Amino acid sequence: MKAIRVNTTGAPEVMHIEEIPDPVPEREQVLIKVYAAGVNPVETYIRAGGQGYSAAVPYTPGMDAAGVVESVGADVTKFKPGDRVYTAGTLTGSYAEKTLCLQSRVFHLPDQLTFSQGAALGVPYSTAYRALFHRAQARTGEFVMIHGASGGVGLAALQLAAAAGMKVIATAGTHRGKALVEKYGAALVIDHNDPDHFTQALEFTGGKGVDVILEMLANVNLGNDIQILAKHGRVVVIGSRGNVEITPRFLMGKDADIRGMTLMNVLPDEMDEIQQGIAEGVIKGSLSPVIGLELPLEKAPEAHHLVIEEKAYGKIILTT
Ligand code: NAP
Repeated sequence: MKAIRVNTTGAPEVMHIEEIPDPVPEREQVLIKVYAAGVNPVETYIRAGGQGYSAAVPYTPGMDAAGVVESVGADVTKFKPGDRVYTAGTLTGSYAEKTLCLQSRVFHLPDQLTFSQGAALGVPYSTAYRALFHRAQARTGEFVMIHGASGGVGLAALQLAAAAGMKVIATAGTHRGKALVEKYGAALVIDHNDPDHFTQALEFTGGKGVDVILEMLANVNLGNDIQILAKHGRVVVIGSRGNVEITPRFLMGKDADIRGMTLMNVLPDEMDEIQQGIAEGVIKGSLSPVIGLELPLEKAPEAHHLVIEEKAYGKIILTT
């Protein structure tokens, strides 16, 4: 099969397409014929060996894929060849024509979604669900600010929060990003490049403050985020690419929390609950991944440049 390989860490151009042997599923493993693979920022950190990530080379990048089950190991009970599926984590990498996964990391792909949309579920929707419901414990009627709503995780969080009856303040950095988040249910749309946007968010709450902030770039925003929180407010740090200075006193007077999260800490039972919640939203029509760009598999280097260097507009997908 063809697969993108990283033979040494470095710039996106270290990724090359190569012919490698097909993986063979053992016991609880599922081999998937990949039609679409999602590109996530974390895969660029691992490839570059930055942001505290590293990987043993050579390897195939990628965690998210959607496709059809090709073959299964002897102990697989949930899937059979021909099933439409998506992954939330793989054993051999998803930027490839085939990927091997544990059956616990494979889920049935609802008929409502294309393969490209299925490849946008694993990391982005699972992260958004985990951040909003498990970590922030956001409730119906609360003010929820999605700080960075135009990308993969942000749009997922926006759709989840709007469907749950939360009042969503969504930020984006471009006109078309703002139009996109408005379309998907934001009650207030603001620009995170505007220094005044924190005040605009606070005013929208009538001065009460924001109950929950899902933060995609904490190193830029955390110091200001905690100043616009409501009493008992929570910031969940989803993304951060550097250091930040905060004034802890802003947390004290409000009994407010800063909570971190990484999807890697999700337990198998929690992952099942997350995927069930996502499937219910997809079937009801409240969740629908937005694909901004599809590129052929061999353009993985371009996809890595774009996901870090360009403004976001939904998901970037590699197709086989
Ligand atoms: P993405 O699709 O590239 O989206 C990035 C988002 O950040 C866009 O909405 C972008 O908006 C926004 N952004 C840019 N500048 C910002 C600013 N100054 N303030 C607030 N937002 C800003 O990436 P993603 O897949 O959604 O991931 C978002 C972040 O979460 C990444 O750092 C990623 O590594 C991290 N992440 C963490 C976990 C975890 O387990 N903790 C899981 C998944 C992702 P514009 O482009 O419109 O300016």
